[in-house]
Amino acid sequence: MLERKVAPKNAKIKRVAVDVDGVLAKFHDRFLHLLNKDFGTHYTLDDIASWDIGEALPVMKKIKEVFGEQVPENVCWRYFDLAWLNPEKMEPLPGAVNAMKNLYLRQDLQLDIVTSRRINSGRDMLTWIDFMGIPFHGIVVLDAFGKHSDKSMRGYDVLIDDSPRLARKMAGHLKSTLLLFPANHNKGVYTPNVLRMTHGWKSVREYFNSIK
Ligand SMILES: [Mg+2]
Repeated sequence: MLERKVAPKNAKIKRVAVDVDGVLAKFHDRFLHLLNKDFGTHYTLDDIASWDIGEALPVMKKIKEVFGEQVPENVCWRYFDLAWLNPEKMEPLPGAVNAMKNLYLRQDLQLDIVTSRRINSGRDMLTWIDFMGIPFHGIVVLDAFGKHSDKSMRGYDVLIDDSPRLARKMAGHLKSTLLLFPANHNKGVYTPNVLRMTHGWKSVREYFNSIK
């Protein structure tokens, strides 16, 4: 777990956790681009109907049949790392960089980038954040395989994420709010403190304007 914090602790400050893949970065587009190129497939975001990409894509089912149960997950993590290997080719989501610059100026927010991932791509992700000029107060990199990878347990007031698993966990953290980026892989997930950001970062900015 890599953790870097600079913002002072203050009870009046809202602590905000901003996810990376699918929230700041168009990770799934880059992932599919590389996978399609190698496998001769034509998958789009619509094909990622499950959080577990290894379950969602038909080519992974074939790989599972031929090579065994664990192989699709390993292949998916390989493409996860490859997607981040050339940070300059990773595009940000529309409005993400400007929204982060705007939110960073607010005195009432502690803006942390919080990501749970296989740590192989951690350094490439940090390079990308610097490259894009995305401001932040802290960065928390959680090992997706570690026992502390649950973002809902870290005391954030507002979380911005696209994970359906996190959305389900929010039912146990009703003092926090999750701003959920809508995606095919998180359709139908609902708890009272999950707000769908229908217009992406535009919706996020509207939310934070409303709580000023
Ligand atoms: Mg994500």
